[in-house]
Amino acid sequence: MSPWLWLLCILIPSLIILIFIVLFIFIKRNRGHGYFLSKCSAFTRVRFDHLEQRRQTYCPADKKCQCHTKHSSSHIEPNLSCTHRSPTLYMSFAGAAMIVGGVKTTEWRGSISKLHDHAHNQFDVLFLTDPAQCFYLQDPNYQWDGLKYCRELVKLYSTLYQRVILIGASLGGSMVCMCADLATISIAFNPILDPTLLGLPWRIMGAYCPARQAHVIREQVKITMKKINSKTLNRDCVLHIHWSQLSAADRRQAHRIIRSDEEKKSKQTKCLTSVLDFDIDSHFMNSLTGVHIWFHSSGRHALAMHLKRVDQLVPLLRRHLYDILENCRDNTSQEGQQSNTNRASLSVKIHEIDENDVRMTLI
Ligand SMILES: [Zn+2]
Repeated sequence: MSPWLWLLCILIPSLIILIFIVLFIFIKRNRGHGYFLSKCSAFTRVRFDHLEQRRQTYCPADKKCQCHTKHSSSHIEPNLSCTHRSPTLYMSFAGAAMIVGGVKTTEWRGSISKLHDHAHNQFDVLFLTDPAQCFYLQDPNYQWDGLKYCRELVKLYSTLYQRVILIGASLGGSMVCMCADLATISIAFNPILDPTLLGLPWRIMGAYCPARQAHVIREQVKITMKKINSKTLNRDCVLHIHWSQLSAADRRQAHRIIRSDEEKKSKQTKCLTSVLDFDIDSHFMNSLTGVHIWFHSSGRHALAMHLKRVDQLVPLLRRHLYDILENCRDNTSQEGQQSNTNRASLSVKIHEIDENDVRMTLI
């Protein structure tokens, strides 16, 4: 055998081993963020304990509370005898791991904390993630029972708290829209109401959902919106949806429930209270009933992240939660808070109407 052949025989296996080592280190380092595992789970529908442990993270405001499991767990059962609860519970549904660069166990934490900066009141938060990256439709046992699992969770917490606020973006926003009739205030950014309308890159890199399961989302959103808008619920209940008007993906989702000029009137139009360009000063922003759609002059699907970067997210949320924050505010901090809201209102530009406009006022 020639020396060159010997060299090749040593080099090739060494190179393969080196590639595997680099890959192993890379995955190991990123495992903490759950990015690779969540993608793996999304495609194979295999249950990974490492991800399931991050499904729920409960953060009570009262640090004396020892009634719940300390760490994240897939099955946190609320302790019915707990006496440390705050009046308000936020339930945060995290979005796609691809968008946020890994599985976030405490998405929205910073923004929620800022909301209560000037308020005396405390709040508890239950952070939820979707280990299967499939619109929360996989329950912890992977039996496609996620909708029932999430709705029962929201329903139970609604009986334990004075008010429950749901918040989520993208696939997290989808579950917010599916459970909104059980909460007090629900805020969804760029929700995906029909996964079959997603483009191929989204379905590969974002979140893939089988057609049969996509039907579950469409039906539940319709039922939820109808319930809220018919005002048959015996308490106040509101759903705010924010979409980016210049994003083709968002427009496709919006057209599921809003008619455009060319299309016939959608049945679901009846379920909406208002469809408007985003205006932070609109009186619908702090409405406590109905389904309100807001269009932002933005081309980004990750609208909440963009708004956060330009310091417009907290003022927006503050408007939606105005009554809750106002009720609980300490008198001494009232002036400071008011000036903050005013400053924020001025900083938000009201954008011009676009030719792809899908707005319409329904009332
Ligand atoms: Zn407790």
